[in-house]
Amino acid sequence: MAADPTATFLEHDQEFHERELASFLPDKFWDMHTHLWAKEAYNAPLPPGFPADATYEDYITLMQPIFPGRQLGGWFLPKPTVHAPEQTLTVSEWTADSVRGKPNCKGAFLIKPQDDPEWVRENVKRLGLSGLKCYHVHAIKKPTLNAEIPEYLPEEIMRVANEEGWYVTLHMVKDRALADPGNQHWIRHYCESFPDMKLILAHSSRGFQPAHNWEGLPKIADLPNVYFDSSANCSPVAHEAILKICGHEHFMVGTDFGAASHTHGHHAPVGDSFYFIYEKSPVWDTLTNPDDKPVLIVLEHLRSIKWAAWSQGLSDTQIEDIFWNNAARLMGAA
Ligand SMILES: [Zn+2]
Repeated sequence: MAADPTATFLEHDQEFHERELASFLPDKFWDMHTHLWAKEAYNAPLPPGFPADATYEDYITLMQPIFPGRQLGGWFLPKPTVHAPEQTLTVSEWTADSVRGKPNCKGAFLIKPQDDPEWVRENVKRLGLSGLKCYHVHAIKKPTLNAEIPEYLPEEIMRVANEEGWYVTLHMVKDRALADPGNQHWIRHYCESFPDMKLILAHSSRGFQPAHNWEGLPKIADLPNVYFDSSANCSPVAHEAILKICGHEHFMVGTDFGAASHTHGHHAPVGDSFYFIYEKSPVWDTLTNPDDKPVLIVLEHLRSIKWAAWSQGLSDTQIEDIFWNNAARLMGAA
């Protein structure tokens, strides 16, 4: 099936885009957290119009309504799956084949904790990839949502990442994310032990509850090799905490392209946690304007970036930095 952006990006998404985003989005966007997937290794539900095998070309096509006429680059992560956890090599090869030779594109290798570090090194080099993606679903001990970082990102693989100067995207888990002392300990330990590795904390350091960012960021703000991608996080305050405590130079916008970006809904902090609401969640009939509809999460996400940038007083140049220049500098744009 060919990618069809009109199947997910609907009329009310277009209206929201024109009102909230069209004049805000810069000319160039380096997506610091985007995905590709292959059907052999991924059978989770996809949004309408999304192909079962997603290539770089599909990404470009499906992003057009959101970034019309913009120059796009990106850090492409193989989509992890709980359904076929043994297929990490397949989807890493798929991602490598898809982005090879494309301008301003880098790809990651999806690891499992039991992978032999030298096997990882060989394959990343063979495939022309630039770093690693890990995911808690591959941790051996259950439940994986409570896993400590080395249970899904082992130290011996990080040693190779350091020797090779790789980028490593980490979506940390545990209830309190960066406010958790275990997560703080391992981030510091890895960044100090492996200074040539660049650690990218996904989803604005998974601060879907921004209180965890305000509490945890001061504990890691001095680390020069820790970076942040904003992807999928719709809480402006989570981004504001990073901009305020760590500075805009370490912050980069990402979409989490896939079901996480192209589902209609929202997520929001409550108490010490957060919740997701989707189109079928029984809340939309309680809106103050009953005619309003949920927009794509990626649109809510980009509006949260706008609000964070404005509230922190970022200049136009600094906004261009978080959409392109920071990533291009870190990863080496063409
Ligand atoms: Zn992701």
